[in-house]
Amino acid sequence: MKHHAYIGLGSNLQSPALQLESALQNIGQIPHCRLLVCSPFYGSKAIGPGQQPDYVNAVALLQCDLPAMELLHQLQRIELEQGRERGPEQWVPRTLDLDILLFDRQVIDTERLQIPHPRLQQRNFVLKPLFDLAPDLVLPDGKAVVDLLKTTGTQGLWQLPDLSS
Ligand code: AMP
Repeated sequence: MKHHAYIGLGSNLQSPALQLESALQNIGQIPHCRLLVCSPFYGSKAIGPGQQPDYVNAVALLQCDLPAMELLHQLQRIELEQGRERGPEQWVPRTLDLDILLFDRQVIDTERLQIPHPRLQQRNFVLKPLFDLAPDLVLPDGKAVVDLLKTTGTQGLWQLPDLSS
């Protein structure tokens, strides 16, 4: 179990919070991986053009013994199993979106996979739950998550009640 990966989860269709709950269960069953912890769930306003339902977002920390590319395949399998239709458009509602935000302190820049996730630094719905899990986290480029979060602010973001307890 040599790697640590932060995974961003998002959904705005078909009971988004339940989508995240089942995604967490599925992630916990990826071979050679162990789900360590998940942040609180947050509601967030959809970004991009047009009207879209609000999102539910969270970040999970995973310990795993797979290379990053293999982890991406596993996450995409889970996205498909949970009914996501992958089309050409970027700003569409989705039942489940799983992103690898960070993978140890690795920097990967290939066509299929960029780590750290390229939009991580601008998205408060990623930075806030990441901060909840790791308040002292510093990205490979030297930027502290706490500072990035000060820049984005937390507007359009609200913490959801924990229904599991
Ligand atoms: P999206 O529609 O935003 O989920 O983007 C999916 C595409 O992003 C896939 O084709 C992936 O190959 C690519 N991708 C690049 N970097 C990442 C990453 N860090 N995590 C997840 N998908 C990624």
